[in-house]
Amino acid sequence: MTFASFGLKPEILRAVSDVGYTEPTPIQERAIPVILQGRDVLGIAQTGTGKTAGFTLPMIDALANGRARARMPRSLILEPTRELAAQVAENFELYGKYERLNYALLIGGERFEEQSRKLDRGVDVLIATPGRMLDLFERGKVLLADVRILVIDEADRMLDMGFIPDIERIVGLLPRTRQTLFFSATMPPEIRRLADSFLDNPESIMVSRPATTAEGVDQRLLVVPTPDKREALRQLLRQETPENALIFCNRKRDVEVVYRSLNRHGFTAGRLHGDMVQAVRTETLDGFKRGEVSLLVCSDVAARGIDIADLACVINFDVPINAEDYVHRIGRTGRAGRSGKAFTIATADDGRFVAAIKRLIDKEIPKLDLEGLAAMEFAAEEGGRGRRRGRKTDRSEPRGKADADAPRRSGPPESGGRKRRHRQEDPEDDPPVVGLGDHVPAFLMRPVRPKRAGQRAEADADAG
Ligand code: AMP
Repeated sequence: MTFASFGLKPEILRAVSDVGYTEPTPIQERAIPVILQGRDVLGIAQTGTGKTAGFTLPMIDALANGRARARMPRSLILEPTRELAAQVAENFELYGKYERLNYALLIGGERFEEQSRKLDRGVDVLIATPGRMLDLFERGKVLLADVRILVIDEADRMLDMGFIPDIERIVGLLPRTRQTLFFSATMPPEIRRLADSFLDNPESIMVSRPATTAEGVDQRLLVVPTPDKREALRQLLRQETPENALIFCNRKRDVEVVYRSLNRHGFTAGRLHGDMVQAVRTETLDGFKRGEVSLLVCSDVAARGIDIADLACVINFDVPINAEDYVHRIGRTGRAGRSGKAFTIATADDGRFVAAIKRLIDKEIPKLDLEGLAAMEFAAEEGGRGRRRGRKTDRSEPRGKADADAPRRSGPPESGGRKRRHRQEDPEDDPPVVGLGDHVPAFLMRPVRPKRAGQRAEADADAG
């Protein structure tokens, strides 16, 4: 099948051929004709499947004739994060370069005045995060009565981030007669309910089973004592020498700790999390995409949907609390049929989180032992204490201080552990530690192990 067989406008075909795509991906093959017919779509697709072009190409075609009125966008795309929104905007620039469409990006961290000026001139495509969208609406800067096409992208992520009430409000402000394109990587019951209420006789397009991980990604699991996590990360990086890697932490604070630790140990790493100002986030991401830094330590929110064509490796410095995040994280590599590697550094207490991931992906994740590090078993998949599998062998470098920022977790791994928040652009807040302020002494974070006679307590210090 070719792009020309969709009957897309020649200007769009020229732009697609400039990008170098020779044939549509499976989701494009199925979604483009349906969207061109004006039908609603329920797309269940992982990132990396080409879904963005799957909806932008027919949208450009549908919007090519017609003009937007001031403050009345003709289409609206809702994205959970600024990075994803920016990426969709890049797609419109890329594929719409021979068309005269205007688009505006409404994301937190960008100046209101500029966004509002753009809206005043009239935009065909409005790409927004839900919070910023509602802020501008409430200020009377944007009217939604002309929106004919609505895209809700990464719906399951919107749910995780507490955006669903915002989305329901926004949809309530749109004309009833419209085309709705709804995408989600997974389809939990709450997302199914939303899809049922927003979509009218949609064509369901599922390009892979929900929550499957790409076949081309080689997944490995390391189980190490908590104080050894950073050492395990360094060893892994030395052993694998990936061309580039995203390193995921569960919390912003840990992103900072791991970022500083890596740089102190001679690695060149960048960092990306929701507390950084937008301009720095964009610059960091661009630097990573250009290969100026090969390691990027990041949080889930900041890294959501990042599209890097040749990402070699994903490392989970922390086991994600939501099993679905695992699928999203490792979906950054092995995209569009390429191969990739994904490593997860777990501790003995992570058994139930790993069990939830294995259930979700319906696969075992083979274990990997690192030279010189004590390999552990999970305490038990359902709880209990960990136990060492092997003896520690020679350390390749001096031992470090206990990991003072090891994640503290509560709640069950899947639904119950999921945080729901309302109207937050970057809900990565770290819960305050009661009575200790921000600093938790290392000794409190260390797993308690029975002391053997003569054995020195594991309190040796590590600068990183
Ligand atoms: P997405 O799932 O939209 O994030 O896209 C994943 C990657 O696939 C991006 O790097 C796209 O540039 C790339 N891509 C999209 N469509 C095609 C295509 N038809 N052929 C090859 N690569 C594509």
